[in-house]
Order: sequence, then structure tokens, then C-alpha cells
Amino acid sequence: MRRRSNIPSGVVGAPLDLRTQDEAKRQGCPSVVDGRLRTYAPGDNAGRFVDILGHRVSRPLAVSLAACVHCGLCAESCHYFLARPDDPTMTPVWKADQIRKIFKRHVDWTGRVAPWWVKAGSPRDDEDLNRLKNIVFGACSACRRCTYNCPMGVDTALLVRFARGLLTELGIVPEGVFNVSRDEWETGNQMAVTETDYLETLEWMRDELRSELGTDAVDIPVDKPDCEILYTINPREIKFDPRSIAHAARIFHAAGVSWTLPKRGWDQTNFGLFSGDDKLGGFVARNVYEAADRLRARRIVISECGHGYRSTRWEGYNWAGCDQKLPTESVVVTLKRLLEEGRIAVDRGRNPEPVTFHDSCNIARSGDLVEQPREVLRRVCADFREMHPNRRENFCCTGGGGLLSMAEYRPLRLEAGRIKADQLRATGASVVCTMCHNCIDGLADVIKHYRLPMRVVQVLELVSKALVLPGQP
Ligand code: SF4
Ligand code: SF4
Repeated sequence: MRRRSNIPSGVVGAPLDLRTQDEAKRQGCPSVVDGRLRTYAPGDNAGRFVDILGHRVSRPLAVSLAACVHCGLCAESCHYFLARPDDPTMTPVWKADQIRKIFKRHVDWTGRVAPWWVKAGSPRDDEDLNRLKNIVFGACSACRRCTYNCPMGVDTALLVRFARGLLTELGIVPEGVFNVSRDEWETGNQMAVTETDYLETLEWMRDELRSELGTDAVDIPVDKPDCEILYTINPREIKFDPRSIAHAARIFHAAGVSWTLPKRGWDQTNFGLFSGDDKLGGFVARNVYEAADRLRARRIVISECGHGYRSTRWEGYNWAGCDQKLPTESVVVTLKRLLEEGRIAVDRGRNPEPVTFHDSCNIARSGDLVEQPREVLRRVCADFREMHPNRRENFCCTGGGGLLSMAEYRPLRLEAGRIKADQLRATGASVVCTMCHNCIDGLADVIKHYRLPMRVVQVLELVSKALVLPGQP
């Protein structure tokens, strides 16, 4: 998601709050040192990188490092390569090879015996690490389209995340990644929303909704125990798009759902997925799971966010070392159920414009959730049309992998967005719907850059617009 650059440089490296410091200490978190998020320090970083790499290679990583047969079939999967077809450094295999050669030199026996034969190599200094940073953060949105199309099952995005995590431990990260990680460690949410701002925004939305519907029965509850749903959101909704919370409240009210937002643990987004820092990932995800426990909720529902869905629904339980005690689902799955059970009535004539759907990489390819949003959209839109390719083969919005927070890579990101712009244009739709706040910003950038006559919306907005309420026009 887009970040406001409101952090004065002098506060970079300020101490984290005491609760976070304790948590980081308890977790043995390598990116937090002396109560501060680790910053770059000159020294033998190349040696440290190799040392950490040797200790962290897991079995799935080793498989992806060793299994590549250099067939080149993944090249055409990558939107970066499609935008620059004459540049071999844009192919997934070349990007992965920059990590693979270090593994071969220092871990794999072939590289230790005959390094020249297997093209093994080592980073020599910080310049080499900086070059690697620009590849793994700047030239890959971790969309996993290449993985999906690799006959050997090589997961290049897994390797990219691994390298990102090692560089994060050394403080060799884009400034945006550092700032967002620090905010998340410090405040429990990635946009440093204060508790006052959070509560006041929810009250404001509740008051607007009450006046719109003419009843005080509609509510946006906070910290209400024993509800059917614990609703978790993306901080972007508080900062830039609070109407999305009002849409959810309107629909839950119509369906008679008992629900609540938590006072703490409401941010389902997780920059640990992007920075490669599993400890940060565990810290953020645990906040959500603990909120559900504390409030005795029966289900965790994740608002429309791709990486938030993947982190909270799938990866977070591993990072946090927790068992999954409660059903955890996307709000789009909740909407589908409410429609199927007849708990809400809709009129698709209220959304007459041609609407197409953009699959978020983290939801479709990495989350296996593809038909549910389509079933909802067909019920609430008069003219739903597919984009091609779609579902697990869809192209990234350009903003995946946390790239929206890394301003220095924006020109390359938008250049690589040409394939997405072509896809969007070919649908002839005037509205593109996506179930991801990150994709909203990525697509909006592409639409503006390539001057497409479209706007971006989310599923909640279209359902809310189609909602038929008793006594309402
Ligand atoms: S990553 Fe897969 S598709 Fe790409 S070159 Fe290696 S084996 Fe071939
Ligand atoms: S994960 Fe996506 S952006 Fe990264 S190399 Fe593969 S296809 Fe390209």
C-alpha cells in the first residue's frame, strides 16, 4: 500500500516501545538490536550474509536452489521480462541465480569442489549486497507467476523472500521497507495509526452510517466479546479509505451478523511477508490471534487485502508458532455465504457498468481463492466480464511484494505494468474490481500511467451498492 513519507529522518533508529522490545527479546529477533530496529552498519556484511545463509537454508529452499535446470520456461511468465524482452537480467532464473550462486559456493558440495563449473560465487562487499538488494526488492514483486509455470516447481519468490530476510537482518533494505517494519514493530500496525485516530475514524463512520440509514441500531463495535466475527482490517482503510469499513458495517447490519473490531490486533496486513522477517510476521499475526482469543470470537474475518489474507490465513500461524484454533477467512467468503444463505438481498441492476476482476497474486496463486469472488460479482453486477489471462495465471498489479513502499523502484515497476495495462484495456470494462487494498493502489498507478478510462473498486463496495434494505430506496 502507498505510504505517506511523514517520518523525519532523525527518528530512524529511535527505540521501539517497551512492550515491543520485550517481545523482540523473547523471540530472539535478529532485526531488533538494543531496543532498536537494526540499521545498516559498515563492516564485514558480505561475510555475515554468507554465514547467516548457511544457517538458514531449509529443505524447501534447498529444493528450489538445486532443482532449476535452466530451461528458461519461466521467462515469459514474468511481467518484468515481458516489458524488457531483450534484458536477460529480468528473467526469474537470472534473479534466482544471484542467490543460487552464493548457495552453491558456500553450502552445496558441487560449488565447493568445482566453483567455476557450477558458476558459484560470493558477495565481496557491501556494493555486491546492494546490487542484490536492487534485484530482490526492486525487480521482483514476489508474484509467484514464474513458480506456477516452472516444470521443476522452483519457487523463485521463496528465494527472493529468503534473500530479502538476510539483507533485512543486515539493515541493507530500501528505506520504505525499514520505515514500515519499524512502524509495525512500534505500533502494531504498518501505518503507525494511533489508537485515538483508529477509534475516532470508526466513530465517524458509524455516525455517517446512522444518519444515512436513519437508525441508531447500526454500529461499528470495538472490543465486543463473544461475537460471531472478529473483523480485521488494513490500516489503509483508516488512513485513506474508511468507507470500506462502512460498507462492511452496512452489510453486516443488514445480515444481522454479530461482529466486532478489536482495539488491539486489528491490522491483518503483515510486512514480515515482504521483508522476509519471520519474527516480525509472527509478532503481527500473533496480535490478531490473541485478539480473537481475548474476545472469544468464533471466526476471524480478513477484509479485502491480498498479503493480509495470505499472512493471517496461512503463513502467520507458522511464523507465530500457533495452532489455528478458529476458522479464518476472507470477507469475500463471508459475503458469498451471506448471499447464499439469503441473509442479504441484492439488486445487480444497481451496478450496471461493465466490471472486470483482477485476481490478487497472494489470494489466487498463493491463497487458492479464485471462484468465490466471481460468484459474488455475478450476483451483484449486471455486466461481469473476465480479464485474460485470469485466476492463478493473472498478472501482478505491479504493487506486490511491498513495492508500493519503495519509491526508488517506481519507474521500473510502472514499465513492467505495461502487460497489466494491456490486460485491463482489452476487457473494455469501465470498472476493475479487486479484493486487495495493495492492488487498488497498484492498479490505480497503472491506470493513471497508461491513461486507461477505468476506475478501481472493491467487492465490498459493489455488494454494498447492490444491497436492498427494507424501507430504503
Ligand atoms: S526456474 Fe524453472 S522454468 Fe525457470 S529456468 Fe529454472 S527450471 Fe526452468
Ligand atoms: S515472482 Fe513474479 S515478479 Fe518475481 S521473478 Fe517470478 S514472475 Fe517475475
